[in-house]
Amino acid sequence: MDHSVENVVIIGSGPAGWAAAIYTARANLKPLVIEGDPTSETNRQQGTIPLGQLSLTTEVENYPGWPSGHTREYLKTALGEEHQPYWVSANKPQPNHGINGPELMELMRQQAKNFGTRIESKDVVKVDLSKQPFTLTCHDGQQVRAQTVIIATGARANYLGLASEDAYKNRGVSACAVCDGALPRFRNKAIVVIGGGDSAVEEATYLTKFGSKVYLLVRRDALRASKIMQQRAKENSKIEILWHTELEEVLGSEGAGVTGALVKNNKSGVVTELAVSGVFLAIGHTPNTSFLDGQLKTNEKGYVVWTTAARTYTSVDGVFAAGDVADDYYRQAITAAGTGCMAALDAERYLAHHGHI
Ligand code: NAP
Repeated sequence: MDHSVENVVIIGSGPAGWAAAIYTARANLKPLVIEGDPTSETNRQQGTIPLGQLSLTTEVENYPGWPSGHTREYLKTALGEEHQPYWVSANKPQPNHGINGPELMELMRQQAKNFGTRIESKDVVKVDLSKQPFTLTCHDGQQVRAQTVIIATGARANYLGLASEDAYKNRGVSACAVCDGALPRFRNKAIVVIGGGDSAVEEATYLTKFGSKVYLLVRRDALRASKIMQQRAKENSKIEILWHTELEEVLGSEGAGVTGALVKNNKSGVVTELAVSGVFLAIGHTPNTSFLDGQLKTNEKGYVVWTTAARTYTSVDGVFAAGDVADDYYRQAITAAGTGCMAALDAERYLAHHGHI
């Protein structure tokens, strides 16, 4: 047995990655998780952030096992000091009713570590899946060889692709309310949110804490969001829904960043200028697969395809996919964790079947 070859390497560190790590670690497979580089530019552009998209969310109300309650003591005892949320280490009041996204992800990471998972905080930028063992190349040139690979790199937020949107990114244009909403530039000013799904409503609701008003631009006459989220948006007096409305252009200046938005009613053709200090995009996602360079079969939207129903097998034997990178339909933390578990069991069976363990 070649000990320089890993049994299983998991690429990605959202719920799918950590669930796969917990299962493979408990099966004594000594998994290696390549969790993403928190500082790299590649990573920022590709969206493969450590701890996945949940690290960009607030309260998580629908992950089973986490009803609202006081979490301070638990977070304090479960997590190492450097991974505790600021409000625990700084002894501030708990800001939310229950668990929030980054906390949940730190707990999953810790759980995987507790069973011996090894972690590299790097980006995988290249893979060779053409022959066994597979070779993965990290952004710093480090190469890792593996008998099995679990792809769990998730998906990232989409932008509209307007030149003005690009020009004001990080100066009022954002795809993450939780990351940027509390910035002084948005305080007591009007803000635009674009999209009609759960993310758009969640972002709009969150931004009402800071802005004076939130315009929710919906391109048709209905929200895609779940009923409970729709109700929340409609009942919030600070949210005004502009139906049949699309963003034409972000307005601003070099010094001030975003100062307005030109929006168009796509039924009447009327263009209106809104005075806003921010434009938040919540219009869906793109799977993080560019590092695969076409070596795995994907569907028409670019998501990795499971080649056998209810199995995490991909078009390459020994490579498995879990979470949002292979799911353009459910896209929930709990489904990602579920498929991460499935991928771990599939990888374990593959290793046993081929006599590697
Ligand atoms: P989504 O459900 O795909 O919604 C995307 C929204 O953006 C849709 O309203 C879509 O409009 C709109 N859109 C897409 N392209 C657009 C464009 N070019 N211009 C204007 N509007 C555009 O995405 P999501 O909201 O990110 O949600 C993804 C998944 O995560 C869902 O399964 C959701 O339930 C889940 N999620 C859940 C929660 C929660 O439970 N708290 C929170 C966030 C996300 P159309 O409707 O016209 O296509």
